[in-house]
Amino acid sequence: MAFLSLKGIGKIYVSQSGVAVGIRGVDLDFEIGEFVAVTGKSGSGKSTLLNVISGMDSYEEGELLIEGNATSHYLEPDWEEFREKYISFIFQDYNIIESFTVLENVELALMHIGNKKARRRRAIELLTRVGLSSHIRHKGSRLSGGQKQRVVIARALAKDSPILLADEPTGNLDSESAKEIVKLLHEISSDKLVIVVTHNFEQLEGYATRHVRVFDGAIERDITLAPRRTSSKEADGVAAAPTVRKTKWRAFQNGLTLGKSIFFSRPRLSVFLCFLMIIGMLSLFVVTGFCGDAFSIFEPHYMFTPIDGRVILTETDGSPISNETLAALVTKYGAMGSLKYDLLLDSTVSAFVPDDDWGRYFDVRITYGEDFGKEIVGRYPEKPGEVLLSVPISFRNVFGEETLLRRYVAIENTLYEVVGVYYEIDNNLTPRCLMTDEGYRHAVALHYLKGNYGSSSTQLLLQAEDGSRQESIYGGELTVLYHLPDDKIYVEGLEEKLAEFGVPTDVTFTFNVNYYIYHHLTGAQTQYTFSDSFSGDCFDTPKPDLSMFGEFENYYWGEGNVYISPTLLTPVVERVLADSYRQASLFFENDAAALRAVEGLREEGYRAVTSRATYTPDAFSVLEEVLAGMMMLILWFFTVAFLGFFITLCSSRALSAFKGDMAIMRSMGISVPVIRVAMYVRMLIALIPAAAVTVLAAVMIYTSPTVNEIFIYLYPWQYGLIALGMLILVATVTRKQIGKLFSQSVKKALKGGDTV
Ligand code: ADP
Ligand code: MG
Repeated sequence: MAFLSLKGIGKIYVSQSGVAVGIRGVDLDFEIGEFVAVTGKSGSGKSTLLNVISGMDSYEEGELLIEGNATSHYLEPDWEEFREKYISFIFQDYNIIESFTVLENVELALMHIGNKKARRRRAIELLTRVGLSSHIRHKGSRLSGGQKQRVVIARALAKDSPILLADEPTGNLDSESAKEIVKLLHEISSDKLVIVVTHNFEQLEGYATRHVRVFDGAIERDITLAPRRTSSKEADGVAAAPTVRKTKWRAFQNGLTLGKSIFFSRPRLSVFLCFLMIIGMLSLFVVTGFCGDAFSIFEPHYMFTPIDGRVILTETDGSPISNETLAALVTKYGAMGSLKYDLLLDSTVSAFVPDDDWGRYFDVRITYGEDFGKEIVGRYPEKPGEVLLSVPISFRNVFGEETLLRRYVAIENTLYEVVGVYYEIDNNLTPRCLMTDEGYRHAVALHYLKGNYGSSSTQLLLQAEDGSRQESIYGGELTVLYHLPDDKIYVEGLEEKLAEFGVPTDVTFTFNVNYYIYHHLTGAQTQYTFSDSFSGDCFDTPKPDLSMFGEFENYYWGEGNVYISPTLLTPVVERVLADSYRQASLFFENDAAALRAVEGLREEGYRAVTSRATYTPDAFSVLEEVLAGMMMLILWFFTVAFLGFFITLCSSRALSAFKGDMAIMRSMGISVPVIRVAMYVRMLIALIPAAAVTVLAAVMIYTSPTVNEIFIYLYPWQYGLIALGMLILVATVTRKQIGKLFSQSVKKALKGGDTV
């Protein structure tokens, strides 16, 4: 039984121009140790013969037997395996990977050696043997033709396969180099079957043991020139294929190494790929942020600001709850505290802080009894008129790290001193303003004084003591001023007026307030109007020192404005609200305790609910949320798909440069799984800079106010989503690339690809 046997092999090429016979009726037996020269005119079928033997071309007729095994039933994976096991191929145009170094080219064929160092040692050994030891670090593209062919020979040696096929290996070389190559081929191949196609038989004379002449696709002559060479190796019976251990793990490791080589062998392409990945990552970052924002519709919408342990209650008949009742309930249910005028907790109010330019408006929610932990700058408020602000970290850009402290913030026409600041990293959260209990009560008073839907107006009546003269001043802005002594009113410009009238004078000040209260729990809306008057010596106030208000001084003050100390207003508002305010809050340790209290309160006949339990979605809003969520999901996937398309498109040129390389690798018998892994590895390496950029962005959002303002704060799950998106992206792009790489047969790819 011959080592390699061709029985009646025929190969026909069908193309648009018609049918061409490649080879026909070829009967040939080959043995290890033969050095076969194949000659024939151009177009006679020499290359076809080699291609069929190598498994790179299929055959239609006959049977090719390798070590007695038929191959006519082979499918592409079988041929891959066949090539890996038996074949080394040397082409006329030296199919080395130009972007790889000499060393890498040879190492490629040494994949079966698991140990990297051993692999390198062997590669250097082989390169020394073909006389290239001084060129191992050179890129393939920098070598001369002869040198390239030496690399190919070293590679063939590295692979140590039993069959060495060479299609006009010296065709592109000068005669001197050609001689050396043939000599080298002969030297290294005593234990192999070597088949060399040439149009110059003389070059092989003295070396060839057999001469096959092809004419018009058929074997015209087949003569033995010398006995086939034997080697110790064959005597040992080791001539056959080196044992290739094909484990998945090995394929994976080889793919890893190859992927790294591919990535670093074409630095410019790789940088471009990294750049594309960064663009993809950033787009995904933005879209995910946007989607995340949109996903906030999934957050339950509470009727009341959800505060752990908060219970909102009203009397069943909707009448106001008295202070006594509230105090009794606190004791009975063991509440930590109660809040009578709690509506302010559930709305936002406008705040303003001036700066060198103009200032910044933002909405705040006034809160009560909140604990921000120890991360605050400054301290917690201790008296009314002092506040702690919880604001996005980006506010630092406007006010600086510390300078928001000890500034004044105007909240609904009242100036508060900022004594503490808490910086939120989540820049989507509404800023909050924490006050003392008393401060909160004042704020409620001021809120209704201002009239959240109505208007407030002031009227000042001056009257000479003898009744000879009186005058009204209308419309001055009413503002509460914490820096006035308790129970005092100061009117700007009053001194001059008083002087006009001649002191002593009666002064009466009246303010009218018109407001609405809407109670969510009962659905009751109350419009309320009240007015109150102050007279007498509360006007006997020295002009307050305004300098402490800094920038406010310039536009906050004005002729006729009325400044009033909160102690005057609070009891008035309290008195009025007592008849119209219909709900209150109790505060418990936690929601569980709150729920228990709710049960008891309901049994007693109160309407009561925890703030968190007020989320009651109706079918429509659920549908709306589901639809919006689906839209977002679709948008997100669409973005990923589009990015995949975009990156594939941009990298397709880069890919075509690989086609030739891949074909060379496949012709060397590097299996498709290894190349597949390598392609994924290459993409994953390209992902590293993008991942680094994202991590950097995340860190900067956390630490830099400027970045925090530009980029939306993302939650960890959103970063997870980005990572997932990028992996999907890498997978789709790589799959498409692999699809394109392997869409052509090895032979076609070789012809179209690696042209020198
Ligand atoms: P050689 O290598 O001896 O010059 P080939 O083996 O390349 O000859 O070609 C043998 C015959 O097969 C020629 O007639 C050639 O035109 C034809 N042939 C080779 N490859 C193809 C192909 N891919 N498609 C069509 N015809 C082909
Ligand atoms: Mg040819």
